[in-house]
This record gives sequence, C-alpha cells and structure tokens, in this order.
Amino acid sequence: MPFREDQLVETFNRTRGRCLYCGRELAFHAHQLFTERGAWVVDRFIPVSKGGADGPENWAACCLACSHRKGERLPWEFDPGRFRPDAWEMDSYLDGDDEDNGRKGKIG
Ligand SMILES: [Zn+2]
Repeated sequence: MPFREDQLVETFNRTRGRCLYCGRELAFHAHQLFTERGAWVVDRFIPVSKGGADGPENWAACCLACSHRKGERLPWEFDPGRFRPDAWEMDSYLDGDDEDNGRKGKIG
C-alpha cells in the first residue's frame, strides 16, 4: 500500500525524524531510497501479522538496519529492555513535546 505524503510526514515527525528503535537520524526525502544516506522505511510497530493495525498510529519511522533486525517480531521481542507486552501503543514510548507530557502526565 502506498503511503500518502501527509502520513509519511506524520510518521516521520512522530519520532522527530529519528529511527524509533535506535535513534539514528533519518532523512525524510530518503523514504524507501535504500542507497541514500538517512534511508528509512515505515515499520509496523506491532506487526500486522501479530494483530497490529496497518494505520498511522502503528507506523514507526525505522532505519534499514532496525527494520531488517526487527522483521516480523513484536517490539518487546526485539528490544525487551524498552518495550513491554502490556503497552501496545507506540505513543507510550515516545517523548512527545512538553505540552503533550503535561497533558498526559507521563512519568519517565
Ligand atoms: Zn534504527
């Protein structure tokens, strides 16, 4: 399924232009341009095959290395130190901006 430009922008900005998993800086123009510096793909945070949604709330900007390593695994299988099976929403792992933090009253 091709991504709409605004969905790509939303996905890219959600992690502030960094790979969700390793924090590597990505280049927006390099989406699916595998030879470009900063190349990235849209990863399904919860793989669709494991019950994840194929929609923007489940899309994560992901560098090629992490995409290869994660594959069809669940995020907590990929990085158990960071992700938890009881929190399926990607947003619970993102810093967000200050305004967001205040509103949600997040800890950590
Ligand atoms: Zn990465």
